[in-house]
Amino acid sequence: MRAAFAGHGWEVPRLLEALSRADDFYFSSACQVHLDRWSRGRVALIGDAGYCAAPTSGMGTSQALIGARTLARHLASAGGDHPTAFGAYETELRPYVAENQANGRQAAATFGGGTALER
Ligand SMILES: Cc1cc2nc3c(=O)[nH]c(=O)nc-3n(C[C@H](O)[C@H](O)[C@H](O)COP(=O)(O)OP(=O)(O)OC[C@H]3O[C@@H](n4cnc5c(N)ncnc54)[C@H](O)[C@@H]3O)c2cc1C
Repeated sequence: MRAAFAGHGWEVPRLLEALSRADDFYFSSACQVHLDRWSRGRVALIGDAGYCAAPTSGMGTSQALIGARTLARHLASAGGDHPTAFGAYETELRPYVAENQANGRQAAATFGGGTALER
């Protein structure tokens, strides 16, 4: 952190100095999850596990809730045919997730000086 932000102005020197004294310092990378498919067998992924869009998208909670609702709706209407339900769930939600992930990458670039999000 010190090396990455060395030489920056404003409040940065004060924050770097405070890092040494903090007992609750938290640091993590911002990542997205990109999977070729969201289900296998009888297991389907919902939310961050399947298609995290990164905090910079501001849409992770919505994706998790809408994902759960969409999957539940397709499971109910497929009458127990879970492969059909899983396929319909993914087909319906993919475009929404792709848009959120694109926005998440775009916002990360403005925060992080143009570097790509980890994938
Ligand atoms: C710093 C930060 C800021 C964010 N800001 C926003 C925001 O402004 N707006 C927004 O919409 N989203 C935001 N998000 C993203 C949002 O928090 C997530 O997208 C959302 O919580 C994903 O929900 P989820 O249910 O998929 O996963 P999670 O909320 O991660 O839930 C997964 C749960 O599974 C549990 N778990 C893990 N492994 C196991 C196991 N083996 N057995 C049992 N349980 C297990 C975990 O403890 C956790 O409780 C932010 C995220 C971060 C980190």
